[in-house]
Amino acid sequence: MSSIIEDIIARKIFNNRGEETIEVDVVTTSGFGRASAPAGKSRGKAEVQPYPVGGVDSALKKIDDVIAPELAGLNSDFQEEIDNLLHEIDGSKNFNVIGGNTAFAISLANAEAAANSHGSLLFQFLGGSRANSLPFPLGNTISGGQHTLGKSPDIQEFLALPHGAETFLEAAMANAQIHNKIGESIKKKDELFSGGISSEGAWIANLENIEAFEIIAKACEEVGNEYNFECGFGIDVAAASMWNQQNQKYVYSREGKERDKGEQLEYLLELIEKYRLVYIEDPFDENDFESFSELTKKAENCLICGDDLFTTNNERLNQGLKLKAANSIIIKVNQIGTLTDALETIENAQKHGYTTIVSHRSGDTCACHIAHLAMAFKCPIIKTGTIEGARIAKINELLRIEHFLGDRAKMAKLKIN
Ligand code: PEP
Ligand code: MG
Repeated sequence: MSSIIEDIIARKIFNNRGEETIEVDVVTTSGFGRASAPAGKSRGKAEVQPYPVGGVDSALKKIDDVIAPELAGLNSDFQEEIDNLLHEIDGSKNFNVIGGNTAFAISLANAEAAANSHGSLLFQFLGGSRANSLPFPLGNTISGGQHTLGKSPDIQEFLALPHGAETFLEAAMANAQIHNKIGESIKKKDELFSGGISSEGAWIANLENIEAFEIIAKACEEVGNEYNFECGFGIDVAAASMWNQQNQKYVYSREGKERDKGEQLEYLLELIEKYRLVYIEDPFDENDFESFSELTKKAENCLICGDDLFTTNNERLNQGLKLKAANSIIIKVNQIGTLTDALETIENAQKHGYTTIVSHRSGDTCACHIAHLAMAFKCPIIKTGTIEGARIAKINELLRIEHFLGDRAKMAKLKIN
């Protein structure tokens, strides 16, 4: 078996929104790997540049002209060397020459090619024989904010987390059931509701924030009772997209309210208490580490998570660690570029007791690498949708892994009180 890279083939494909994206095949002497890049809608400002000037076409040309010839002949087993070379070829700090999505697709395809060259599954190749813990699925059920176009909640995502489930299959079933019940409740409330869903497969409905909270709370309680385990829920506020820098307020346009930092903190603490929220992502603007820190201090039993805050960037994580800004972190490999970069951030976060959550993007493909990354790197939560093709691809891959592991499969350890 040999893992020497023979060829790198790149093409243009589409994500679930019909946007162009890049797909890369890495062919080794005895294996093959393929990866395609996802796309964000509510992107963090500190993320790397997704494509060079000229978009996907320009990225493809750079692969053909420069990157493929440089990588040919290298050993795909040495992921760090491949990823370092991508940085070297790019030469910038934020991948603006070759594009972070270009780096992402090559990096992930390389990892898969190396695993395949050794006859291994990706999660076992990266995580070894002890990679037996399945993540809990954090599933989007109601969309709002920048993930919708019209009248919808100001909060971007209402997410179910069946953290009492004993198997991944049960957890995925509970999430699908919660999604289903929410659809029924919205229909009862609004006879004009026609069943629209967002890119992530979550319902798009004419709801105020408070109505969305009531509906998801009821669905989680009912499904929890049916399945006899805890189904909690949380939110992604995506507060950077509400923040008005000029008047220093969060603008809740649907609700017709504005909240300053202090009022935002009080509001979120009230929500945590009233609905026993287990998870809040990006509660404040992406540069307000101090407010994150205050919430984390006051909301002991809730996961306070940084997505736009950290952008999977180890330097930003270090800044957050100093201030105790959060207790969990979203990992989106294409926010930072390569697998090696993301792994550095994951390891640092885990060393400091953070809960690491591997996540999809709102624009995604049916690639399911994040399922393998969650397993390999012991991330106890995977954030993806509960339904919709690109989301179900990831859920189904975890079901295959759980089935493949048989008696060795167990659910991850997750600290939620
Ligand atoms: C998110 O904010 O968590 C998210 C998935 O959004 P996007 O992919 O649009 O950045
Ligand atoms: Mg987010």
